[in-house]
Amino acid sequence: MTIATHSFNFSFTPHHTFHHHHHHHHHRLRRHHLLKSPTRVRAQVSVTTPPSVTSQTNSNKTGVIVVGAGLAGLAAATRLHSDNIPFLLVEASDAVGGRVRTDNVDGFLLDRGFQIFITGYPEARNLLDYEALDLQKFYSGAKVYYGGGFHTVADPLRHLSDAIQSLTNPIGTIVDKSLIALTRIRVLTQSDDQILSAEETSTINLLKRIGFSDSIVDRFFRPFFGGIFFDRELETTSRLFDFVFKCLALGDNTLPANGISAIPEQLAAKLPPNSIILNSPVASIDKSESTYTVKLKNGDVLRSEYGVIVAVEQPEAVKLLAGESNGFSNDIKQPARSTVCLYFSAERSQVPVNDPVLFINGSGHGIVNNMFFATNVAPSYGPPGKALVSVSLIGLYEDESDEDLRIKVIEELSSWFGPKVAGSWTYLKTYRVKFAQPNQCPPTDLRKNPKVGVGLYVCGDYRTSATFDGALVSGREAAEALLKDRSLVRAS
Ligand SMILES: Cc1cc2nc3c(=O)[nH]c(=O)nc-3n(C[C@H](O)[C@H](O)[C@H](O)COP(=O)(O)OP(=O)(O)OC[C@H]3O[C@@H](n4cnc5c(N)ncnc54)[C@H](O)[C@@H]3O)c2cc1C
Repeated sequence: MTIATHSFNFSFTPHHTFHHHHHHHHHRLRRHHLLKSPTRVRAQVSVTTPPSVTSQTNSNKTGVIVVGAGLAGLAAATRLHSDNIPFLLVEASDAVGGRVRTDNVDGFLLDRGFQIFITGYPEARNLLDYEALDLQKFYSGAKVYYGGGFHTVADPLRHLSDAIQSLTNPIGTIVDKSLIALTRIRVLTQSDDQILSAEETSTINLLKRIGFSDSIVDRFFRPFFGGIFFDRELETTSRLFDFVFKCLALGDNTLPANGISAIPEQLAAKLPPNSIILNSPVASIDKSESTYTVKLKNGDVLRSEYGVIVAVEQPEAVKLLAGESNGFSNDIKQPARSTVCLYFSAERSQVPVNDPVLFINGSGHGIVNNMFFATNVAPSYGPPGKALVSVSLIGLYEDESDEDLRIKVIEELSSWFGPKVAGSWTYLKTYRVKFAQPNQCPPTDLRKNPKVGVGLYVCGDYRTSATFDGALVSGREAAEALLKDRSLVRAS
């Protein structure tokens, strides 16, 4: 989103490379094929004897239990699998992905809330096969609705002439646009570790300190970064602002052709068959002698040889780990970040633009924060001839019915695109996501130790940064902490 007219080179170095197959080879256990059916789990995974070479032929053992198959749990499982450590990934709901899910409704791909995949995420680059995700790009920039019209904010490294034209638009001053260029240089010259542990303030304070004008803050930063953080006040830590700003500078905003859920599904597909158990909510995690037992809501009890990795979202983790206070903070910062996403279908002829561009509301009025025509970005998001309209609000709007919100949104977008266009759209579905992200206002610790007890590890976006990437990093790090502890134990 910068207006710099000069370009410069940067090289991208992933901050981490996997330590595949270190010194765990000699402990390699045969891969187990555990059962999917929750009712048959107990006999399959109860482990009461220590591992031994002879246990390799015994399929009744599992090494690690990972609770929760969101991105963090999947990343933990992936890391364990790369060292051939047997594990069981236990998930409450009917599919993997956690907050990253997609529903197919009459040929429309409805992501459960508006999500974008930023290709610049460093951990994601290491872990995912981008080619296979068939990533569809957004325009690098946004159209800002302000003063009754649309104004383009463009990335000059990608859309130079649009960026030059936008120099004089009312979204920000020329000084603002050069400050964006400076911010870009500042974040690109810092490592991710430096950024995530830098001195912090709120994003709004950082923007003021840099010297941005009120107009670019209100017309661009609030709707754009407020949309990413679900926080239009921009109270979220400046560390997260810098991290996301850097990732945006390094990559593209995209959607996988098959929906955002293609990301967790790709990770799950690389895990051993039957290592994931769905529809199996965990009721409690208890310490018995030197190991943890995981009790499912259906009464089944699972035991692990090496430990338990808890990869559930923060409010669930607090419930499950209520007794495990050492190293685990029960504090949930309020308010949690919420969002509502409304979907409409349209005839492709009733879509005012063909650009794969994100529209953001810089007017200071109304309830719509951002919207886009998903089928302009990824035609596969709708059946032939149909367009998919995605509209996002920030907050939960608990006091308003879906019907009220639908009416308000169509009214509002009628003033953006004309009543004939917006009035022709057909309502599809509303998603209300109460816990979209944890609150990440300062003070934050975006590098929390995953180990909270002997053999007990936690991961999830609330341990690191509340992004896809943060969830992936935290899962890997929890698995690595367990592997390290385990090899120390084994070595003695
Ligand atoms: C609408 C929306 C838009 C977003 N947009 C973006 C974006 O554009 N870019 C970005 O980087 N990030 C975005 N995020 C944030 C990102 O999705 C999350 O940070 C990340 O997916 C969190 O992953 P996780 O594994 O930590 O948690 P989760 O995805 O919440 O996974 C936790 C899993 O644990 C399971 N579970 C819970 N309790 C139990 C139990 N008792 N037993 C068994 N299983 C249990 C849950 O069912 C779930 O599958 C968005 C989030 C939302 C909701």
